[in-house]
Amino acid sequence: MKLCEMCKSEATLQSSHAIPDTVFRRILRENSGKLIVVPGGGSDPVHYSSDTWDTEQLCKDCEALLNINYESYSIRLLRGKVGAVTKHESGVTFENIETRKLASFFISIFWRAANSTHESYSKVYIPDPWNDQIRVLLSENRAIPRNLVTVKIFRLCDRTKKGGFTQENLKSMLVSPFPRRYRQGCYSFCFILEGFFIEVFIPGLRAKPRRARGVLSNRSRFIMAPFLNIFDVPELKECLVEGYRKYIEGSVTFQS
Ligand SMILES: [Zn+2]
Repeated sequence: MKLCEMCKSEATLQSSHAIPDTVFRRILRENSGKLIVVPGGGSDPVHYSSDTWDTEQLCKDCEALLNINYESYSIRLLRGKVGAVTKHESGVTFENIETRKLASFFISIFWRAANSTHESYSKVYIPDPWNDQIRVLLSENRAIPRNLVTVKIFRLCDRTKKGGFTQENLKSMLVSPFPRRYRQGCYSFCFILEGFFIEVFIPGLRAKPRRARGVLSNRSRFIMAPFLNIFDVPELKECLVEGYRKYIEGSVTFQS
């Protein structure tokens, strides 16, 4: 018996996912059992994989708790199955939704990644006391103060005129999460999920930058996810040009 990372009790641990299993399963199903992984912010090559980045981490009850409180709702939201979704010139708008659940969902991915031993999450960490504060708030299903963690969401797009990535290509992209360093002691961690680019700031942003578009609020019933051109993400640009396009070209041949 090992210790569950969340409730700290001895239990038989489950094979736990930070980026949810359902995301991996959809991509694997649509891509003939292959994942294409873009290593964020490093010199590693783009590679194929069928590993879903799971490790023994949480007990059955804690898995269920995260699933019920955050994951199942948020995945449906991101797939356009709750609320009202409108696409317009500058991004995508979601209305009549529970933004707090979505924010906590992304923070739960961040927290699980930081406490995972899987090498795909090796660049993610949360210093104490924040790590433990987030653990308690998540396990008690309480709102996570935005000055502790702030989440920003973008809808990925490709503005390449000819032969760019389609929305479907972007939805099947996975990136090993990578950090950004801002002013002294302030970091963010970035990942891609279901065609969205997520940036999680720790400690959270100050009041003024929290008013920017794409920043999630705990009280709002509305989100505006601005478009973000994937080639404007410096950490991804290089390896994408090199590797991902080759994959897309390959997959086009495969399908025809
Ligand atoms: Zn547990």
